[in-house]
Amino acid sequence: MTTQPQPLSPMKTGVRGLCPRCGQGHLFEGFMKLKLKCEACGLDNGFADPATGTAFFVNCFTFILVAVVVSAWIEIAMSPSLWVHILVSLPIVLMACVLPLRPLKGWLVNSQFFYKTRRGKIPSGYAAPETATPGADKV
Ligand SMILES: [Zn+2]
Repeated sequence: MTTQPQPLSPMKTGVRGLCPRCGQGHLFEGFMKLKLKCEACGLDNGFADPATGTAFFVNCFTFILVAVVVSAWIEIAMSPSLWVHILVSLPIVLMACVLPLRPLKGWLVNSQFFYKTRRGKIPSGYAAPETATPGADKV
């Protein structure tokens, strides 16, 4: 009797930038570029397609939260001049947007592997059902 290896948690491996299959190899070369293959187990990372998901999550949660909370708090509490926002708020917002990119991308890619997601395909010969367009019969 053979036992299947336990699938690795995308949260544990992806956030740390490790291979979704073996958890030993590295997922990235450089800051955001995915490696073509895992150096430890040879997993082809061609399945990975996070597209704009990483930027979406960062924009939706981190940027808005930090921009609204920090910048608005500074403005309301202290009413500083513009240069204070440039020196304080801008670096905080930039760091809040850049730092989570890599862990989020790793989590998204490893979640794609974990849940076996693939790009959708439309079967050949498929015809979309006709829809009723008001006024189309009067042309
Ligand atoms: Zn690997």
